[in-house]
Amino acid sequence: MRYDLVVRSRRAVLPEGTRAAAVAVSGPSIAAVAGYGEPVDAARDVDLGDLALLPGLVDTHVHVNEPGRTEWEGFATATRAAAAGGVTTICDMPLNSLPPTVSVAALAAKRAAAAGKCWVDVAFWGGAVPGNQEALRPLHEAGVIGFKCFLIDSGVPEFPPLEAADLRSVLGSLAALDGLLIVHAEDGSEVKPASGRDYGAFVASRPPVAERRAIEKVIRAAAATGARAHIVHLSAAECVAMIAGAKAAGIRLTAETCPHYLYFAAEQVPDGATEFKCCPPIRDAVNREALWRGLEAGVIDCVVSDHSPCPPELKAAGSGDFGAAWGGIASLQLGLSAVWTAARRRGRTLDDVARWMAAAPAGLAGLPAKGALTVGRDADLVAFDPDATYVVDPALLLHRHPVTPYAGRTLTGRVRQAWLRGTALLDADSGAPDGEPAGHLLNRG
Ligand SMILES: [Zn+2]
Repeated sequence: MRYDLVVRSRRAVLPEGTRAAAVAVSGPSIAAVAGYGEPVDAARDVDLGDLALLPGLVDTHVHVNEPGRTEWEGFATATRAAAAGGVTTICDMPLNSLPPTVSVAALAAKRAAAAGKCWVDVAFWGGAVPGNQEALRPLHEAGVIGFKCFLIDSGVPEFPPLEAADLRSVLGSLAALDGLLIVHAEDGSEVKPASGRDYGAFVASRPPVAERRAIEKVIRAAAATGARAHIVHLSAAECVAMIAGAKAAGIRLTAETCPHYLYFAAEQVPDGATEFKCCPPIRDAVNREALWRGLEAGVIDCVVSDHSPCPPELKAAGSGDFGAAWGGIASLQLGLSAVWTAARRRGRTLDDVARWMAAAPAGLAGLPAKGALTVGRDADLVAFDPDATYVVDPALLLHRHPVTPYAGRTLTGRVRQAWLRGTALLDADSGAPDGEPAGHLLNRG
């Protein structure tokens, strides 16, 4: 047997743990996992030595915004940033693009906009909004990986939130399909209007109780219907116990958090620094430590970016006014380093990071070919130097608008190469993708 490629590493992060291994690739797939030094006949033989070999990350929470708000972000720029950050699959959110992905026609528009431009693989979420319940089954059959809804104003008028009664009926419909509903869980009745440059006042306007009340609604509706529900971007750590309780009771609930909640703390956010604005907000350091405990205990399943860029003018809207600025942090390219920097300090391993950022999101999204270095899966691989440090220079970011709260931070862990279905993506010198975009548009399953 002659393979197309073999990648050897003394630190291959396999599902059963990290060990020295050689991953052999045939066509687009992993064909064998051998010993590190074993003779393997392959057209290309790459020895990473002490660099770690990770599965390509799967980021299930990315707002690409194309078509319609392509000036905010687009498939070419987002997927270039993803590739450079070791993310070989992204899942595009149904809102902020125009049209939002709430019908089969809108999904077709998305796919047409994405075709031929993607450097990594892209799957699509559908949207559940008031009045589109008839579209859920056709969207499901057209291959979306699940449905996103809001329980609070989404920030864009064309993607309104669901009322509690709608939430239950949508979950009822999805239960029949074994579909997944992912929920932006903040309760509008617990959120106050915010204005001004004071970050503390902004955080106080979106308190933990807003997340708690919304998650309670999701748990009740999931329990009543038997459907699968997922909490996106959990920030309030006091909700971890409630989520753990629901899971223990057999309710089909999962949760994610994001690199910025695990890396930053409110105490570090200067007044007027709207590059830190996201909803729900980055909370204090005590909350951050409790989120880490929730992740380590397995209550929080995934870490995904919530990459949500906008033009710098909208981020600075109101000149540092937290009420006026767009909420969203773009971190596709930096998420792995940010999480690893914080995880390593807490004694966590690359096995943990691969579980949180590759295997669990692939499972959530129903993408069985992704997320692990296992025979038969896609050969999506990442060479990662877990010891290298670098200072974040916004000029090197590849997404459309290099606005980032990570500017000037020293992060540990650097992507050296990424392979998508066996093909190397990155130029060795620049670290940016070269060649032609060869990402596929994926369906669920
Ligand atoms: Zn989002």
